[in-house]
Parts: sequence; structure tokens; C-alpha cells
Amino acid sequence: MSTKVAVVTGSNKGIGLAIVQALCKQFDGDVYITSRDVGRGEEAVKTLNSEGLKPKFHQLDINDLNSIKNAAAYFKGKYGGVDILINNAGTAFKASDPTPFDVQAEVILTTNFFGTRDMSTHFLPMIRAGGRVVNISSMLSVTGLKQCSPELQQRFRSEDITEDELVALMRKFLDDAKKGEHKQHGWPDMAYAVSKIGVTVLSMIHARRLSKERPNDGILLNACCPGWVRTDLAAPGAPKSPDEGAITPVYLALLPPGAKEPQGKYLSDKEVQPW
Ligand code: NDP
Repeated sequence: MSTKVAVVTGSNKGIGLAIVQALCKQFDGDVYITSRDVGRGEEAVKTLNSEGLKPKFHQLDINDLNSIKNAAAYFKGKYGGVDILINNAGTAFKASDPTPFDVQAEVILTTNFFGTRDMSTHFLPMIRAGGRVVNISSMLSVTGLKQCSPELQQRFRSEDITEDELVALMRKFLDDAKKGEHKQHGWPDMAYAVSKIGVTVLSMIHARRLSKERPNDGILLNACCPGWVRTDLAAPGAPKSPDEGAITPVYLALLPPGAKEPQGKYLSDKEVQPW
């Protein structure tokens, strides 16, 4: 039988690194740290090596299509596919950052939504039967959803929203933000929350597609919030450690063979949450 493989984006530090650490202990296969910067990735490998763990490494910048394509070709060539994909890479601005709202929105959505989507475009077709895909969203996607206009909420909750429609809505948010009109067009005043609405809804769309197009492959794809975690992205006073933040993503990545659910859900603390 071929070696199984798990790939975690943005895993040179924070929650991603804690996910790799946990998978190295619990997953019977190769586990990859991936990072946009080779030096930071190799340092992370050394850190886990010093704990007796043996992650592998591949460069992967989710904002660079060539990097995504190179990585996809590498995993296809070496393993024939991927068994676990965790789309963890993400970014945010500190509340005190003076960068204008529309510029922050562009940067945040480029990574959190469009980068995650590009990863999915190139990696989902090679997820092997029985595979697990976990997209790291945020509880702020739920907060943001509730602050959207009733019309936007209806679209984001609908079962018939397509990926094209979602992408068009995310682009519209950026256009509205550029004109300083996002609030009057029914968007929350939080670009990070909008980017994570995109991640949650994209997960639901992709799970529906997998269930329809590959009904016998038993692939489960879900979004989750890791909780509020002490990392560079959040705050030193956040209640959870990175290890605790990794618990729900790792739970979803290791759902046992034959499991039928959760599928296309948003979870936190290992529980499906209302959307
Ligand atoms: P960190 O800032 O500690 O880690 C973010 C990781 O993403 C880093 O490895 C970073 O790499 C990487 N990254 C950023 N942009 C790219 C890119 N273009 N390509 C590849 N990697 C990239 O944050 P967290 O560990 O807290 O965040 C992990 C995920 O969890 C994110 O999706 C975040 O939105 C989400 N999340 C976090 C919460 C928290 O409380 N911490 C709460 C809810 C969700 P580099 O070192 O090169 O910058």
C-alpha cells in the first residue's frame, strides 16, 4: 500500500505547527510542514526534530499560483495524491494597525479566501478516497454572518450558492470597501470576518460537490474554528494554547475510516455549530 500523506498550509508556526506536531504523533503516514519561506519552514522542522518527531517539508505560498502548482505536482508525483489537507494559512491585522480598511481587506481576502480557494482548486482533485480536508475558518465568520444584510445572509446560508457566486460576492465586498460603501451594501465592518465567511461557505460548497461528484469516495471536508489561540495572529492573552487550538482541526483530519459525518459543516470544540 502506498504511503499516506498529510499536508498543512502555513505550518511553520502557530496553530499549523501544533497541528503538524499532533499529526506526527497520531497519523500513520508522512506529515508535511509547508511554508512560504523555506528558512522558516526548515527551522520549524528542526524544532519538531528536537522533540523526536520527523515531519517533512515543502515550500508552499498560497498566494503564489506557481508555488501551489509545484507543490501539487510534487505530492501527485511522490504519493499519487493527498490523504489529509489542512488549509490553515491565514492572516489578519492588529486592531491598532493604521492601514486603510480597503487595503487591509484586499490583503486579508487575498490570503484567507482567494489563497484557500486556489489551494482547493489544485489539491481537491487529488484528495484520495477516504481523504479528509479541513479548512480553518473562525468564529468571527459566524459573528460576521449575523451582521450581514438579510439578503447576504440568505445567500451565504443557501444550499444552492455556487463557487462562482461566492467568488463574485467576495469581489463585490472588496469593490464596496474600495468605495467606502461596504456598510451601506450590507457588509460587516470586519474584513477578516468576511474572509472567513468566504472560507466557511466555500467549505460547504466543496463538500456538497464532493458528495455529488465522488459519492463513493467517502471524502469528508469541513470548516472549523480553532478557538481563540495565543499566536502571533491573535493576542498573548488568548485563552487557548496552540496545542489546544489544534484539537478540533486534528479531530476532523482523523475522522475514522467509513465515517459519514460531519460533512460540509462548521465546527468548534469538536461540535457542529449552527450556521
Ligand atoms: P500565525 O500568524 O501564528 O500563523 C499563520 C501562518 O500562516 C504562518 O505560518 C504564516 O506564515 C502562514 N501564512 C500566511 N500567509 C501565507 C501564505 N500566503 N502562504 C502560506 N502561508 C502563509 O496564526 P495562527 O496560527 O493563529 O493562524 C492559523 C489559522 O487559524 C489562520 O487561518 C487564522 O485565521 C486561524 N484562526 C486563528 C485564531 C487565533 O485565535 N489564533 C482564531 C480563529 C482562526 P509566515 O510565518 O510566513 O507569516
